[in-house]
Amino acid sequence: MLGLMQDRPLTLPHVFHRAEQLFGHKKIVTATATGQDTISIADWAVRVRRLATVLDTLGIGADGRVGTFCWNTSRHLELYLAAPCTGRVLHTLNIRLFPEQLVYIANHAEDEVVFVDRSLLPLLWPNVAKFETVKHFVVIDDGASAEIPDDPRIHDYEELLAAAEPFAGRFSVDDENRAAAMCYTSGTTGNPKGVVYSHRSALLHSLITLVADGIALSEHDVVLPVVPMFHANAWGLPYGCLLAGASVVFPGPNMTPQAIVDLLAEHKVTVTGGVPTIWMGMIPLLDGADLSSIRSVLCGGSAVPKSLSEAYREKLGVPMLQAWGMTETSPIATVSSINSHMDDWSDDAKADARARQGFPAPLVELRIADPDTGEEQPWDDSATGEIQAAGPWIAKEYYRGEGGGEQYTADGWLRTGDVATVDRHGSFRLVDRTKDLVKSGGEWISSVELENEIMAHPAVAEAAVIAIPHEKWVERPIACVVVKDGQSVTAQEILDFLESRVAKWWLPDAVEFIDEVPKTSVGKFSKKTLREKFGGYQVA
Ligand code: ADP
Repeated sequence: MLGLMQDRPLTLPHVFHRAEQLFGHKKIVTATATGQDTISIADWAVRVRRLATVLDTLGIGADGRVGTFCWNTSRHLELYLAAPCTGRVLHTLNIRLFPEQLVYIANHAEDEVVFVDRSLLPLLWPNVAKFETVKHFVVIDDGASAEIPDDPRIHDYEELLAAAEPFAGRFSVDDENRAAAMCYTSGTTGNPKGVVYSHRSALLHSLITLVADGIALSEHDVVLPVVPMFHANAWGLPYGCLLAGASVVFPGPNMTPQAIVDLLAEHKVTVTGGVPTIWMGMIPLLDGADLSSIRSVLCGGSAVPKSLSEAYREKLGVPMLQAWGMTETSPIATVSSINSHMDDWSDDAKADARARQGFPAPLVELRIADPDTGEEQPWDDSATGEIQAAGPWIAKEYYRGEGGGEQYTADGWLRTGDVATVDRHGSFRLVDRTKDLVKSGGEWISSVELENEIMAHPAVAEAAVIAIPHEKWVERPIACVVVKDGQSVTAQEILDFLESRVAKWWLPDAVEFIDEVPKTSVGKFSKKTLREKFGGYQVA
């Protein structure tokens, strides 16, 4: 017997119409090069409707890929809705990619149009001859002085919008499984691979940003997504905010710690989210600002060191909320909440719990399995295994079958390449990425754990641990350490500090001091670059 409920597709037009109908009075603020723009959701919605018409006028195909090369702004949010609500596919291009990768991705996705912030045009335009499918470049004037070339393919965003009648009526996408957006993985190995989100996956994932034991977005919130809108749809925050009716503050092009702190204070932001690097950079500024409105600092994309989360707890009274996931998981797959069985734990034990990646989000199923045999591992917090994921917002394959399916198990679960233990309550603790583990004498050393311990040293700003080849042990860890401004520490002092914190055989064979840990295009430690740099390293 079938259920007798309405079979309404789960599609993004619902997000748009809900925001337009219920939250028209709410505001979206965007910091610009010259000041701030504030727009009501009602006015923003009219612009989305105009933009829908513009996409038709430009002749973008029924499911044409609409590239964006933009900062976090309200105009980027217009594209976030106008493209999928008209059946097109939003394709957020990462503004920090190398030109070859950018060109590869735009061609692979067959972008028909690219919307680009004027300040970013100089990064895009030198490659224009290599884009094989892009017919139009629409420049969004963000007040930057970058020269706009005289070229028939270039249009002005505001002129197009002004000339377009707002689309009237309700947007409708008949099949919830149609593509809504796509995002390429940052490609730490091989070519970037395209993850294609469906309307259904995007909508369900947005809902997860509203659940109480997670980010718990509500109509009362003021949300500042620091995480870029080109990084896994800013973790679902933009759609989540519209669904919840939260106010949004977009940081625009100025991503300096001071600019972010100022925005957080000025707009009494309640929820913000970004990768650990962002929050590390802000620590010295926390004392000087009134950030009492903040109730949640969402952090993910890389392991969140206990020392970082604790620094926020001490200074803001609010610890970080860690989430784990990847582009392929939309991205939120776990959230590290403090559950009732931890209520009477000490502060220190709770801090340890927050440093874990946490519990699977509702609708997400996770397991750990031996990467070679596929055998599932017990949840005893000691056995390690690769995290495998299944759920309605987990990718089932890459665009155009790239990667040959090797990242998926025979029963269709995503192999994440992350290695973890799980405790009996279901809290995941990420040990490492498979490729970053250090295999010393047949035993694994977790680079993540070592880094967290090193970063607990008061003089250390950042630390990255990589494996270097070793004749006897196959691999040994070395630590690349960035010292905090105005502080000093010797290699021996770091080793002494570690001695009581990790097993003796985990102690790095060397501590190298570097000025900065190289970062990937989404702000994560680029161990690949470090491995290249120290590839021929010989421990004295
Ligand atoms: P890339 O795979 O190119 O880095 P993603 O942004 O999709 O691009 O990164 C996903 C990876 O980031 C995960 O597989 C995991 O290794 C790491 N990651 C994400 N969140 C966390 C977290 N909270 N703790 C540790 N690692 C994380």
